[in-house]
Amino acid sequence: MNAAHPASAAIDWAAVRTDFPVLAREVHGKPLIYFDSANTGQKPNAVIDAVDDFYRHHNANVSRAVHTLGTEATETYEGARGKLARFLNVRVDELVLCSGTTFAINLIAYSWALPRLKAGDAIVLTRMEHHANIVPWQLVAQRTGATIKVAEIDGRGALNLDQLYSLLTPEVKLLALTHVSNVLGTVNPVREICREARKRGIATLVDGSQAAPHRPLDIAAIGCDFYAITGHKMSGPTGTGALWARREHLEAMPPFIGGGEMIKEVRFEGTVFADGPRRFEAGTPNIAGFAGLGAAVDYLSALGMANIDAREQALLARFTQALRDVPGLRIFGEAPEKAAVVSFLIEGAHAHDLATLLDLEGVAIRSGHHCAHPLMQHFGVPATCRASLAYYNTFDEIDAFVAALNKVRKLLA
Ligand code: PMP
Repeated sequence: MNAAHPASAAIDWAAVRTDFPVLAREVHGKPLIYFDSANTGQKPNAVIDAVDDFYRHHNANVSRAVHTLGTEATETYEGARGKLARFLNVRVDELVLCSGTTFAINLIAYSWALPRLKAGDAIVLTRMEHHANIVPWQLVAQRTGATIKVAEIDGRGALNLDQLYSLLTPEVKLLALTHVSNVLGTVNPVREICREARKRGIATLVDGSQAAPHRPLDIAAIGCDFYAITGHKMSGPTGTGALWARREHLEAMPPFIGGGEMIKEVRFEGTVFADGPRRFEAGTPNIAGFAGLGAAVDYLSALGMANIDAREQALLARFTQALRDVPGLRIFGEAPEKAAVVSFLIEGAHAHDLATLLDLEGVAIRSGHHCAHPLMQHFGVPATCRASLAYYNTFDEIDAFVAALNKVRKLLA
């Protein structure tokens, strides 16, 4: 499955699925139904092979050695930066490579926010943020005296935009929000929201962890100041990701972590730091991981993000319809624009019991708080089940999932 597909081309999704070796395995004697892609995505052979090929044939450190392997390693790493930049529609010299969204948000918290914020300033977050986009801001608030304000959601799990805009008062210095909720699937209108923030001189950080794997992205068009992505949800390896930041911010930000690779000159009297993204990439990076992420970007681009989006929307429509017919099932989050993530509970059954029994049927879903305690507090539940689908899932799997769910539901009744 290598040929590039134009938007809306007919793709043989059954053939695509065979690119993912893990999807062929059995769990407890049943065919695996992997509905946990919001947690981490599965990897196609192209990605696994790229990591393997790097270690077998090119392994060396980046930016140090002049020998052939060193040059190849640097080309692989920088090549991944270039591919990602094109994929996200950003400038390559504005893209910091890092271990994932958690690192990317902490980088902004420590290098951009900490030196700037002071008592009396405020940061706006939303009710649906992942802990990775809450806790770093609490740490910044504790150290600067800034406060945190929260934008709330409506009954369907969409942001209440009027309330959000009413929070954007002059003391607000940053609005940090997710593009797509990892629990509700809600797709936030980030372009409109960032425009409103920018009008008021407020910087914006968008957590794109759950958007980049599923929809065509044009970060330049969103108009935010910072955008974070994580590679392992994009069919790429764990420990890879990126932060895009406007050049003016990157130039003004002091380093977050010091070490090799991020300097121009080091003297005991003082150090001159590298320019641009490299200033924030101290130490040996996850080179093999980025070989894999480069391959993942090629793989997703060949399928076409518009095609992936359309496929996942079709799966979501069928899935939601099927779940509505399950007695006692409550869906959390039915925003008009949603990604293929469905959180639910069944009356009388605990989320972990459901997930454990489903595992015995070969079904992998997540149960718990999904690193979103404030959202659980909003709904007044300790946990939900979350089924999250990706383009490599099938309609047959949805039918098998619903049959398994009905079976375990009766066991717990
Ligand atoms: N934000 C969101 C919305 C997420 O879903 C996740 C991963 N569950 C993260 C942040 C954390 O990203 P990472 O795995 O790169 O630390």
